[in-house]
Amino acid sequence: MTVQALPKAELHMHIDGAIEAAVGYDVVKKACPDRLDELFRTNDNGEIEYNYDDFIGFLNCIDTVAPLTLQTPDDYETLTYSYLKNAAQEGLVYCEMIVCPGMWHKSDTYDFADMMAAFTRGIGRAEKDFGVYARCKATLERGSSTEAVEKNWWATKQIVDNSDHPYLVGLDLANYEQLGDIPGHKIFFDYIEQHQKKPLLVSMHAGENAGPQNIQDAMDAGAKRGGHITCVMEDPALLQKVIDAKFHGEICLSSNAFSKAVPKLEDHRLTDIYNAGVRISLNTDDPTFFFTTIGKEYQIAQDVFGLTDMQLVDITLMAIEDSFAEDACKVKCVERVYDLIENAYNYTRQDVVAKRGSGKAADQPKLK
Ligand SMILES: [Zn+2]
Repeated sequence: MTVQALPKAELHMHIDGAIEAAVGYDVVKKACPDRLDELFRTNDNGEIEYNYDDFIGFLNCIDTVAPLTLQTPDDYETLTYSYLKNAAQEGLVYCEMIVCPGMWHKSDTYDFADMMAAFTRGIGRAEKDFGVYARCKATLERGSSTEAVEKNWWATKQIVDNSDHPYLVGLDLANYEQLGDIPGHKIFFDYIEQHQKKPLLVSMHAGENAGPQNIQDAMDAGAKRGGHITCVMEDPALLQKVIDAKFHGEICLSSNAFSKAVPKLEDHRLTDIYNAGVRISLNTDDPTFFFTTIGKEYQIAQDVFGLTDMQLVDITLMAIEDSFAEDACKVKCVERVYDLIENAYNYTRQDVVAKRGSGKAADQPKLK
C-alpha cells in the first residue's frame, strides 16, 4: 500500500460532481421527495449512493441534484474546500476543477463572478490549511436545443467578462458527445478567443462515448488536452498524432467503467495508452457520482493495470506540466511533489528525476 503516500494531481474534476450522495439526498428529500427512489439507492453496505446504470442515467442524477444543492456562492465555497481537504489527505498536490458558468444562467441573484469568488475563497482556504493548489477551467456544454445554445452564449459572455480572473486558467467542452460535435460548438470558443482579456487554454471531452473522430476534432479545434480519450487506441494514425502533438489525455478510469464507456474496468486501455507514450493524468471526473477518490484512481492504476510507483509519479508530474496553471503555480506544485516523496520515501529529488517513469522493480522507492 505505498500508493497512498504518493503525490497526486488531477486535471479533470467537475466540482458539481463532487456532491456527497448523503448531502444530495437530504436536499432532494426536501425539494422533491417523489424523486428520491429515482435518484438514490442504498448499497450493500447500507450507504446512500446515486442510482443510475448508464451515462444517460448518470446525467439525469447530476443534472437534477447539482442545481438543487448548489444554490449560493457559500454552497460552492463549502464544496470546494471539503473536496480539496479530503483529496489533500490522499496526497493531492494540484487540482484543475471544471466549473460550469451556465449553472446560474437563470439566476436573478448570482452570476459567474460570484461563482469564481466562491471558488477563490474555497481554494485559498484549502491551500493555506492543507498545502493543496487548485485552479479552474470553465466549461460549456454540448447541446443544440434553443435553450442549450442560449445558455452557452450566456456562459460564453460570462467567461469573457471573467477571463482575467487569476484562478480561471482554461476552458472545457463537456456533456454527452452524441449531443453535438465539436465543430458545431467552435463558434463559442472562437468568440472567447477573440474577446478574452488573457489567453485561456482549452481542453475538450472527446473520445469518451463517441469514436476517435472526436479526438481529432478536439485537436483541430486547438485543444491542448482531451477529456477521457478512452478510444484513442482504436485509430493507430490518430494515436501517433496524439503522441507527436503531446496532446494530453485526461484519463478517468472509474468514470469510464460506471458510465459504460468501457464494458468493464479491466477493458480500459490505460496501460497501452501509457506505454505508447501518450501524456496522461489520472482523474476522478465526477468523484462522488462515480464512487471514487483520487487515491482510489491511483490505487486502481497500480492494482488493476500494474503501473509502478515511479510510473505513477511520472503521471503526476505530466499532469502538473500539462496543467493550465501559471508557471509560478506549477513550480510550487513540482516542489511539493519532491517534498512529499522525500518526507515519505527513501528517495531524494535526484532519485525521482533519475527513476521517473521506470517500470523496473529495482527502481521503486520504499516508504521510510
Ligand atoms: Zn468530465
